[in-house]
Amino acid sequence: MYRTHNCGELRLPDAGKTVTLAGWVQSRRDFGGLTFIDLRDRYGITQLVFSMDEDRALCERARKLGREFVIQATGLVRERSNKNPDRPTGDIEIDVRQLEVLNASKVPPFTIEEQTDGGDELRMQYRYLDLRRPSLQHNIQFRSRLALESRKYLAEQGFLEIETPYLIKSTPEGARDFVVPSRMNPGQFYALPQSPQTFKQILMVAGMDKYFQIVRCFRDEDLRADRQPEFTQIDCEMAFVHQEDILHTFEGLIKHLFKQVLGVRLEDFPRMRYDDAIRRYGSDKPDLRFDMAFEELDDLVKGKGFSVFDEAGLVVGLCLKARAGQMSNKDFKQLTEWVKRPQIGAKGLVYVKFNEDGSIKSTVGKFYDDEALRTWGERFGAGPGDVLFILSGEAEQVRTQLGALRLELARRYDLIPDNVFKPLWVVDFPLLEWDEETGRFHAMHHPFTAPKKEDIHKMESTDRSVLASIRADAYDLVLNGAEIGGGSIRIHDRSLQARNFQLLGFSDEEARRQFGFLMGAFEYGAPPHGGIAFGFDRLVAVMSGSSSIRDFIAFPKNNQGRDMMIDAPAPISAEQLDELGIRIVTPDDSSGR
Ligand code: ASP
Repeated sequence: MYRTHNCGELRLPDAGKTVTLAGWVQSRRDFGGLTFIDLRDRYGITQLVFSMDEDRALCERARKLGREFVIQATGLVRERSNKNPDRPTGDIEIDVRQLEVLNASKVPPFTIEEQTDGGDELRMQYRYLDLRRPSLQHNIQFRSRLALESRKYLAEQGFLEIETPYLIKSTPEGARDFVVPSRMNPGQFYALPQSPQTFKQILMVAGMDKYFQIVRCFRDEDLRADRQPEFTQIDCEMAFVHQEDILHTFEGLIKHLFKQVLGVRLEDFPRMRYDDAIRRYGSDKPDLRFDMAFEELDDLVKGKGFSVFDEAGLVVGLCLKARAGQMSNKDFKQLTEWVKRPQIGAKGLVYVKFNEDGSIKSTVGKFYDDEALRTWGERFGAGPGDVLFILSGEAEQVRTQLGALRLELARRYDLIPDNVFKPLWVVDFPLLEWDEETGRFHAMHHPFTAPKKEDIHKMESTDRSVLASIRADAYDLVLNGAEIGGGSIRIHDRSLQARNFQLLGFSDEEARRQFGFLMGAFEYGAPPHGGIAFGFDRLVAVMSGSSSIRDFIAFPKNNQGRDMMIDAPAPISAEQLDELGIRIVTPDDSSGR
């Protein structure tokens, strides 16, 4: 037996027991006749003591142990004279009588402690060492519990866990596919799924009724910060449901997870229409941990001789409460520069500062007198001490810019409370989204999303603005400003699906080639159905109060999509390429390999 207890388990009442522990040497301290070792495993750290007086040879052996050596120690549990209240095992120590070195270790390239001296790349290269650190151990355990509780809840609700294939055919969900060459079928390729979307819909046609899967998805996207080329979804689909049934079932899932894993009881989730989210917060994933909703000012500000506002499509602002006193001219200048950065792209920033003493200071004081500025303030319920920030320009752009400013102000002025969770459903997304670049419509969610019943008649229109106004039975779950889930009711009618493909610019031939299997299945009694998928990595991160998903994935890829530990992607051998019938053509070797 390697151990009788783990390293996080022993307490004062265990004093007097003879125990055997096994683990890694976290640290060693030698003092005169005594040597202390902190022994670590997944469960915690226990202090081992060796004494020269008691057993000189043993103590000398202990003094040769290096960091991360794997050892087994047998000894007596005893009360510590010098207790460590920060550690659950801090009241006891093990007076060691026997020591076995199970394995030696090289000196690790960085310290394996909460505050480590290793840089990102180094820690990813030695991920197995990084994973020994307490915070990562905690993250991986937290993730495992969340997965387990998801399964419990969904099983209880009658969902079946069903696997779908990873080697499939391209499904257009917006991103590029990763492809896998087929040796048996030269010149042909599988694609790795961006999501199991079509399969889960076909499972509904197949009568499975309620499906879920905690599943890996693959998207070959340019990696923006905190995206991974492979990521995990809790993917779900249900038959014979309306939107309301889905929202109810999955609000239940999220509440269950919060209660079981965090001990947090969430109130019913508010709902916000997509249009309202954009109009009020400039984002389809508003962070509701703080308010600062937008107010539109066109009716108050136009026609007073200030051409910037007069010519703008929209003049819209927000109110920062109770910060006027601490804001200097330099702060305003910095914020103005911030919104003018190319990433944000605003032309300028107008502010109105309602000073505590009742005076008003504004960048547009020349055009508007105090009385006018006060009426603007009234729209926000602003009083002394508050500051209005106002942007103007083309409506859609301006809202996005102000949305970014809202988040930036929250960061700068510390408006986001810790340990607060604000979920909401964003509903009534548009079905179609016009893409200026390609001059055609894209599916806002995906091509299988159903229009709202009352908007179906608009599908026959040829008018772009009518088509753009079609709402879908599509919904997102947003938590603390992060989109953590999204889904829709699906089209189950073959002709409506065909019309939707048409609107998305697929020819009949293209639609048949890409989705013939789905359209075919829909001819054999497809039930009404709908579903949702949660970004599991993001959910785990947000529930932990973190914004980085990488810390919650055991083996993540870096910003270039590389696995630094196994060094992938990597070239393959000439033989492998031959077998696959693939020639690599590089720009300076156009004759092929
Ligand atoms: N397949 C969708 C996604 O990955 C989710 C869904 O519609 O169920 O975003």
